[in-house]
Amino acid sequence: MGEHETRIIDGKASAARLKDAVKAQVATHVDAGHRVPGLCTFLVGDDPASDVYVRHKRNDAGFVGFSDVHQKLPADISEEALLDLIREMNRRDDVDGILVQLPLPKHIDRARVLNAILPSKDVDGFHPVNVAGLVLGQPSHWPCTPKGCLHLLDELGVELRGKHAVVVGHSNIVGRPMASLLVQRDCTVTICHIHTQDLAQHTRQADILVVATGCAGLISADMVKDGVVVLDVGISRTEDGKLTGDVQFDDVKPKAAAITPVPGGVGPMTRAMLLQNTLEAYEGHLRLPAEA
Ligand code: NAD
Repeated sequence: MGEHETRIIDGKASAARLKDAVKAQVATHVDAGHRVPGLCTFLVGDDPASDVYVRHKRNDAGFVGFSDVHQKLPADISEEALLDLIREMNRRDDVDGILVQLPLPKHIDRARVLNAILPSKDVDGFHPVNVAGLVLGQPSHWPCTPKGCLHLLDELGVELRGKHAVVVGHSNIVGRPMASLLVQRDCTVTICHIHTQDLAQHTRQADILVVATGCAGLISADMVKDGVVVLDVGISRTEDGKLTGDVQFDDVKPKAAAITPVPGGVGPMTRAMLLQNTLEAYEGHLRLPAEA
């Protein structure tokens, strides 16, 4: 155990590179005389965590040169009023990406809201049309976290074809789309979740292990094999307020070929991917008149 050098995957550095690339691409388009890309963020209610997330997303958007359209709405806004505002943003030519920060207040039907976003502007990749595109391997917006994970694997230069990838967690925003992307890249994929029996028996087979459960420290060293590449998506807070992942980092690290830390791994990549998705949406919208 631990005979090799473990690569600590620096998600912050990867994210910074991607952000710079998006910024440069935006500048190229604007210098060529095109309009500025626009990202619209919806924040409903006063959840402090959501407030922080949206602030970060808007700052990132400003950094790369997107115009910032923001809708701060009261927690008691009606579903219809929210849907009307989304439809308005669907129609606006200066808005390329629309993001509705989750969770939404209980009286609002999340699926109805997400399904109202024009698929070409759905930069979170949650609309059924985009989900279908992802599963079928057709061009579409992919959810930011799994897309960010794939980007990290590609930057590492990991050969994915034929590898056994194990995804722990089967949520719509991380686990399921992650598994679909890995299938597309010709991995053999196992999806585990809360009802999986003998989780360790599966995780021990993983060449690539992606963990997204929100269970702090779920994956211990005896649950992985030597040489595994580990992407830890989970974010929990310890009692002393520190962020921690789903993987017991210090113990698993010596066995891993590469591993993401928490914080500083998948999280920053997720944020950067929103910018990449918005840029792609904008480029798609710019091309529309030419194709019409
Ligand atoms: P979720 O609650 O929707 O889904 C959790 C999944 O984990 C479910 O599929 C559940 O079956 C599974 N699970 C829970 N406990 C388990 C256990 N003991 N054994 C096996 N499977 C178990 O969560 P989510 O939205 O997919 O997020 C998962 C984690 O990732 C959370 O900690 C969240 O904060 C984090 N997250 C991080 C980023 C990022 O950018 N780093 C992005 C999204 C989510």
